[in-house]
Amino acid sequence: MYDVIVVGGGVTGAASAALLARRGLRVMLCDRTGLPAPAVSTHFFGPSVLSFLDGLGVLDEVLETGAPPLRRWHLEVEGGYYGAPMLPRSPYHYNLCVRRETLSAILLRAASRHGAEIRERSPVRSLRRDGDQVTGVEGDGWSEKARIVVGADGRGSQVARRTGAATTFDAGVMRCTFHAYWEGVVPLPAPALELWHDGGHVLQVGPCDGGRWMVMLSAPIEQYDMLRSGASTGYEARLRAIPAMADRLRGACRVSPVYGSKTLRNFHRDPAGPGWRLAGDAYCHKDPLFGAGIADGCAAARALADTLPPDGDSREARESYAAALDDHVGQKVRTGLAGLRVDPPQPGQLAWIRGVLAHPGLALEMARRCSELFAGLPEDRRAFWQRVADGAADILDLPPAARVDPS
Ligand SMILES: Cc1cc2nc3c(=O)[nH]c(=O)nc-3n(C[C@H](O)[C@H](O)[C@H](O)COP(=O)(O)OP(=O)(O)OC[C@H]3O[C@@H](n4cnc5c(N)ncnc54)[C@H](O)[C@@H]3O)c2cc1C
Repeated sequence: MYDVIVVGGGVTGAASAALLARRGLRVMLCDRTGLPAPAVSTHFFGPSVLSFLDGLGVLDEVLETGAPPLRRWHLEVEGGYYGAPMLPRSPYHYNLCVRRETLSAILLRAASRHGAEIRERSPVRSLRRDGDQVTGVEGDGWSEKARIVVGADGRGSQVARRTGAATTFDAGVMRCTFHAYWEGVVPLPAPALELWHDGGHVLQVGPCDGGRWMVMLSAPIEQYDMLRSGASTGYEARLRAIPAMADRLRGACRVSPVYGSKTLRNFHRDPAGPGWRLAGDAYCHKDPLFGAGIADGCAAARALADTLPPDGDSREARESYAAALDDHVGQKVRTGLAGLRVDPPQPGQLAWIRGVLAHPGLALEMARRCSELFAGLPEDRRAFWQRVADGAADILDLPPAARVDPS
């Protein structure tokens, strides 16, 4: 009999098993596949994950993978450019891009060191129950009991299906992504987390461990078929159509297939019931532009470690877990969807954007005075500028932007 069985050995499952085992609980983690498993994903993460890894005592090991710390922002917006150091808002003012099999291997080793048992190639097929209470898991010819079963088994979660966890928010699919690993990309003078906005498309670019580069393109979902083609309208052609990116890719070569993702639903589920919890993508899946999947997996691991009772299960413990997840993950997704609508700017906006990028002092002025500057605009334009002002205030570490209030 285990205290906790964690189903899924991705970043969420491995992080959860490590923290729960460190708390002294008897933990078993099982995954349907061999571990560590790669993930169809890009791999950028920032301060909250770095802080989590440090707390677990594995940050040095992660830095030794050779993934360069990305200590600068590099924004390329419609042909204009802005570059600056990341501001020291926390002791961890950089990002990393560490391939998932590398990161999961480190987390799984930490889980083992703390006493968690790891079982690979052991798919969970169903749950054991005693009335409403989940009491364990069943695989092909095996079965184990646990006080709590944690579904960290990704967005198509078997644990969610078997418990009938209700979908409590669903905004559907808004964007699609294409990404691939590259070698030989011309580096910037200093490693940076690169975000490129071009005609409603967003590129996320950066060097990762293993001497490779990650280059992701995000587009409105309606453009999936067009971008999937290998021809002149495909992913690679689209990257090379941006002159500054074409220069960076001139001597580079793509060293992986192009991974296309078109089922990026933005949703969350009820995360807790008697004897079970959901964590990571199994609880909440969202568009990669949120850049938060790894951070949210770590937040769930923390919430599990903070709220699982020392014995049995209780309504209060479930409510605490659900509240913690909603605070850290659910609310962000419900309120952040506007950021996924990346419309190509109008010509007048373009002039402004270029001006702001060339003279960041303008951003300060805009953030301070956006209510006066933009109040006379139609509602959709006001919303656009509010987002620009909010984004500028966030990236430049300015005080929160004034609200655009036409009244
Ligand atoms: C294109 C793309 C780009 C992204 N970019 C980023 C990014 O840059 N930064 C970021 O933070 N997030 C990013 N994300 C999101 C991030 O990849 C996910 O949020 C993260 O992988 C979720 O981790 P997880 O452990 O919860 O689930 P998963 O990684 O899906 O792991 C689930 C595990 O459960 C196992 N499993 C499933 N079913 C069973 C079963 N029945 N029995 C046993 N095991 C089972 C699977 O084998 C798997 O190992 C991106 C996502 C996509 C699609």
